Amino acid sequence: MIEIHDLHKYFGSLHVLKGIDLNVEKGEVLSVIGASGSGKSTLLYCINGLEPVQQGKVVVDGTDVHAKGTDINKLRQQLGMVFQQWNSFPHLTALENVALAPKIVKGKSKAEAREIAAQQLKHVGLGDKLDVYPSALSGGQQQRLAIARALAMEPEYMLFDEATSALDPELVGEVLETMRMLAEEGMTMICVTHEMGFARDVSDRVAFFHQGVMEEIGPPEQIFGNPQSEHTQKFLANVR
Ligand code: ADP
Ligand code: MG
Repeated sequence: MIEIHDLHKYFGSLHVLKGIDLNVEKGEVLSVIGASGSGKSTLLYCINGLEPVQQGKVVVDGTDVHAKGTDINKLRQQLGMVFQQWNSFPHLTALENVALAPKIVKGKSKAEAREIAAQQLKHVGLGDKLDVYPSALSGGQQQRLAIARALAMEPEYMLFDEATSALDPELVGEVLETMRMLAEEGMTMICVTHEMGFARDVSDRVAFFHQGVMEEIGPPEQIFGNPQSEHTQKFLANVR
């Protein structure tokens, strides 16, 4: 599981995360919502060790992410990450893009890596695009390629940072469907998202962030049906 204890993050004098306490259990799907600038992305970067923290800690499967001596590269293999816009290597085919990390990071043979890549591309519905270059894929297909790349490392957790925000509206659905499929397969996921329908339908819990504070967390029925915090109420009134 992912355990976050009293996490504080500063950028210089800017206090961006103000004492976050949060546990994410194996198999859980957590959606993180909140206004732009509330610290959602920073939370994900602190979880996978892309950003140092100033106080508190993040523990992933018993390993303190920010402790000296933690093998952060090894830990990151457990944490697949999908960003808003993900740049595939343009000179590599979809298959080669997905096979790269298993080969280089995990030391798989070329044949094994290609097998894993083909499997994961099929998994996200790109089984007919193995030999296509990223430039020939739609935005939605490119995001699914990004998901396949992350899955090829066989992570325990998937972190999504607004994976659909850069997409044309008609391409959002196919990526959300892929994320929903992973959730149904039991993947543990933290999804920063503006897609309230997804947050409501797919998440076990929804966390609302406001100015670096996790103001409210609970099942979607609570957050969307009976939000306790005034800030949550205001935010939801504006996104609906
Ligand atoms: P969100 O993802 O909720 O929009 P972020 O986590 O990206 O919010 O940002 C939270 C706050 O931290 C914002 O005020 C943002 O400007 C600031 N911030 C984010 N990254 C950096 C950085 N690398 N350096 C300085 N300030 C940053
Ligand atoms: Mg963000």
